[in-house]
Amino acid sequence: MRQLGQRTEGRISWHFRNVIEDKEGTKTTLPFINNTKQLANYLTLDEQLKNEIDAASRLYPIKISEYYFSIMDRADPLCPIRRQSIPSGEELFESGTLDPLNEKSYSETPVFIKKYRGRGVFLVSAECAMHCRFCNRRRFVGKGWNPRKYLKETLSHIENNNDIKEVILSGGDPFMLAADELEYLLGYLRSIRRITTIRISSRVPVVFPNGLCAEHFNVIRNSKPIWIIIHINHPREITPDFAENVKRFRDAGGIVLSQTVLLRGVNDCPFVMMNLFENLIGCGVKPYYLFQFDEVKGAMHFKVSIKKGVEIMRFLRKNLSGLALPYYVCDIPGGLGKVPIDYQYMKRRKGDAVYFEGFSGKTGVYIDDGKKDNCKGCRLCMMT
Ligand code: SF4
Repeated sequence: MRQLGQRTEGRISWHFRNVIEDKEGTKTTLPFINNTKQLANYLTLDEQLKNEIDAASRLYPIKISEYYFSIMDRADPLCPIRRQSIPSGEELFESGTLDPLNEKSYSETPVFIKKYRGRGVFLVSAECAMHCRFCNRRRFVGKGWNPRKYLKETLSHIENNNDIKEVILSGGDPFMLAADELEYLLGYLRSIRRITTIRISSRVPVVFPNGLCAEHFNVIRNSKPIWIIIHINHPREITPDFAENVKRFRDAGGIVLSQTVLLRGVNDCPFVMMNLFENLIGCGVKPYYLFQFDEVKGAMHFKVSIKKGVEIMRFLRKNLSGLALPYYVCDIPGGLGKVPIDYQYMKRRKGDAVYFEGFSGKTGVYIDDGKKDNCKGCRLCMMT
């Protein structure tokens, strides 16, 4: 097996370079759009728009796969695929912060963030198959930072920290690693018997599904069970290619869930959300999180009010199977953690009577007179 820090060129080197040259000297252009000039080959851009895109992409580089472009409505400037992937002049506004969740101050190594008891986020890559215009890690994604040199140190840290039982591989995107690098990381984590749960957070199946190779699925098969959390924001992102990747993850023994960010002009509509979550369930993906937008610098034009988010959740709860409902959560700025922010159906309490609002709007009462619990007073729960 190849060791971390080494890289073979060829088969899977699309992650890092725009042009690959094989041994015979044949050059292949890789399927990404990285600048305004390339964009102008696909879209009609006037001078002002070109200047805005140039200015925004100097701060936060462009990267869009040709695949993701293919699902865009190029004639519609408000297309949700376009809004997520093409820079805009709104990114030049200064509000927001580059590290809205204060991840740096929770970092135990340069690539291991630990906020919660028992689990931590391992940033295994700083590369993605697309530079999403709302990314809350845009401070380093696609900017040449290399987490690779911290991977061994972090694996030792995890091995020596008895509190860690769950590791969330994130980045960037873990599927930007070559399959054998991912295999090495998963093999190492699996060898630590205390680690019960490994998650991989990824957007590759959505923005560049053809970037996953058979070896990636084999790695999942050989390391199962692995929880795959796919970041997906709009029903138009559910394509046959996406569905095929989900099927391959599931066939390999992966447990597939989704996370979605509530984004203005992309999915801030109850019907769009209903369509997204219904279709995810149809593909075999359990919607897990709906995130309130983090206050990211240069992306504040995507912010939706919590009031609107709660209305959307109320609509979804009324119209969707419970299986299709995600948790709507806010990651509290500054790194205080995720908290649920759903609609409050429990309206008031009078003595033992608790008043609830039902889906029809009618009020019902539950008499909360359960007997005293059977706690034995061992106080184990007080020790945490
Ligand atoms: S895939 Fe995730 S980490 Fe990468 S740019 Fe998009 S939101 Fe950021």
